[in-house]
Amino acid sequence: MTDWTALIRDVPDYPKPGILFKDITPLLADHAAFTRVVDDLGDGLVFDKVVGIEARGFILAAPVAYRSGAGFVPVRKKGKLPADTYEVSYDLEYGSATIEVHADAFGPGDRVLIVDDVLATGGTARAAVELVRRTGAEVVALSFLMELSFLSGRDRLPGLDVRTLLTV
Ligand code: AMP
Repeated sequence: MTDWTALIRDVPDYPKPGILFKDITPLLADHAAFTRVVDDLGDGLVFDKVVGIEARGFILAAPVAYRSGAGFVPVRKKGKLPADTYEVSYDLEYGSATIEVHADAFGPGDRVLIVDDVLATGGTARAAVELVRRTGAEVVALSFLMELSFLSGRDRLPGLDVRTLLTV
């Protein structure tokens, strides 16, 4: 079995100086590694819908949903979803960002798994949790390929089931 963790490429100073970017494209291009992480991201969890956070979250969340017989729901940057939405804004290092979900994306009582590639400061994941809750659905867990533990993103997700396949 391929060591999939070796297929995450560190790109220094991208997208700006001082950031060590975790590039998952070599992993995605390797069938065995991609299959393994998709299998593991939903392992042992019961859910009706999988939320993918734009954009790399889509690539991981959609096959997790397909594999599990669940639906897929995109959480997108403001202005990209065509129908009625809920939105949540959150602070970034510089400025702020707004993400949205379709207001009718979930049914009553839907159990939701949120998937993304990297848990960094946790701001994006926190906002995604608030979006799902605003619709009345329930977040059962958040599953990440990788957690950057030095940024303490978990601290912004108290009381939630936070899973990561790799911690650095
Ligand atoms: P945060 O809101 O700080 O937890 O950032 C999470 C979002 O930014 C995720 O959607 C990640 O894809 C992306 N991200 C943050 N830091 C990195 C990094 N070092 N390498 C790759 N993606 C990152």
